Formats: sequence, structure tokens, C-alpha cells
Amino acid sequence: MSKADVMACLSSLRQHQHRGQRSPHKPLLVLLALGQLTTTDSSALDWSTTADRLAELIRDYGPPSTAGPTQRAAYPFTRLRSDKIWTLNHDVPMDRVQPLATNRVVGQLTPALEDALRDPDIAAAAARLLVDAEFPPTIAPDVLMAVGLDPDTILTTAHQTDKPRQRRRSWTVAILTAWNRQCAFCGFDGQLGAATVGVEAAHIRWFTFDGPDDPDNGLALCSLHHKLFDHGALGLDNDLRITVSSNFTSRTDTGQSVYGLHRRPLRPRPGTTPPAATHIHWHTREVFKGPALTS
Ligand SMILES: [Zn+2]
Repeated sequence: MSKADVMACLSSLRQHQHRGQRSPHKPLLVLLALGQLTTTDSSALDWSTTADRLAELIRDYGPPSTAGPTQRAAYPFTRLRSDKIWTLNHDVPMDRVQPLATNRVVGQLTPALEDALRDPDIAAAAARLLVDAEFPPTIAPDVLMAVGLDPDTILTTAHQTDKPRQRRRSWTVAILTAWNRQCAFCGFDGQLGAATVGVEAAHIRWFTFDGPDDPDNGLALCSLHHKLFDHGALGLDNDLRITVSSNFTSRTDTGQSVYGLHRRPLRPRPGTTPPAATHIHWHTREVFKGPALTS
């Protein structure tokens, strides 16, 4: 397979997306197989040793779900076969956990794809394509690290693929200005000389999921709270109050200060466009790791 063939077949994984619903299960499995290939020269993944790891990846980087973690791992492990890039050494039914365990099933990228991905340039471009399609820049490095790939190599512009939409710098400036160049959650407003440092414009509905560069889809957030918001540790409710996930834990007073944000109202300055309910709803449905703290 040529590089173009690899990119085309991995791009088609994205077509399973439906109405802004995140479904990173298959891309996460391909990334895990790619990490395995990079470190062991084979993409073979034994279900018995992969299930927990894949389940953790989906739990940590996928949308919230009520399905059991192992069940969520069985979905891509069996269904990626239909994309013609993944094989199993036993013909087991789709989605079922038990036959995967009973038959000691091993999954592997198809030989042609695996062979192409042994080229480091193709592997890096493929990984970049998958993370760019599914995750914002705050999360992409964490995903790559979690699957055993090197973010510093992959997230260089050399491996950036064509983007149908380019981020508008003017949107970033407008959001930072509208929110007084301070974190809408904690008020952090650090400057180094005249330059704002550690405060970023954050999309509420992710740019990668058709989040528009509109005033009502952005917040200025400090780097920490931007990351926690994109990971789903923090969210917003319909009354424009901050919510903290009950799954967020910390051992230190500094980390636990995040709890203090729960139910704190956003305080846009007069005239600032508040976040739109539709974008908050998307974030709550697709990103926030609910339930929120109860008090
Ligand atoms: Zn902050």
C-alpha cells in the first residue's frame, strides 16, 4: 500500500461519525496497534492482554457511556474487521466479549497495512491523521503517549495532513478579548511583559467536530482548565455554572482546589456573548465525564 492508500483507508474510519457523536473506538484501536507495531514490529494484539488497556483508553478518551468497559472494548476489536484493515485469528461474532476470551483471540492489522506502517514516515502521518480527526490539540499528545507513540515526533507540522478548515486566528483574539484575557473559570490572567501567558481560547464544541469559530462557542481558559475542560473533568450546566466531574480525583490541596469550581458561575464581562446552549449540550453529551459532583 502507498502512503496515499493508507491515509485514504484510515480517513474512512471517520465516516462512522453521526451528527457530531464521537466514536473514537476504532481509531483508538488502530493507534494501539500502531504503538504495538512500533515497539514490537508486529501489530498483533492478544485480546486477553489488550482488553483492559483498550477499555481504559476508551474510558479516558472516549465519550461518556453507560456500557461496561470490556463491552466497549469488544466493539472495535470485532467491528474493525468490517473496515478491511483488521483481522482476527478466529471468526467470532461481533461485539460479544465471551467468545473473544474463550477462543484466546488475537487481532492484527492486515498484512498490507502493517507492512506499509513499518515506514516511520507513513506511521507518523497515519497517527497524526487519526488523532487530528478525533481529538483537540490539548488531548492528542496524551492519547499518543497512552498508546506508546511519541507525540514530539508525530505532532510536527511535517506530518500534518490537509485540513478542510483552518483555524481562524481572529477568533482566538476575539475570544481572549471578550473574556478580558483571563480564565473564565478561575480568573487567572498571567502576563509576561505585555504578553498574555497561560490563557487560551477554548472551543466548547470541538473544532474537530464542527465546532464553529463563533463568539458563543468559545471561552478564555487557563492552560490547566482548558485541558480539564477538553478531557471532560470540567463542564458547564445550562445556567452557565461550572460543573466538576465526580470522576475527577486529586491527592493534594492544589489539585483539590478544582472541586471549589463546582457550581461557580461564569462571569462574562458586560457585552460578552455567553456560550450557546447547543454547544454546552454537545460538550455535556460527548465530553463531560458525568455525573457531576452532587453538592
Ligand atoms: Zn483557570
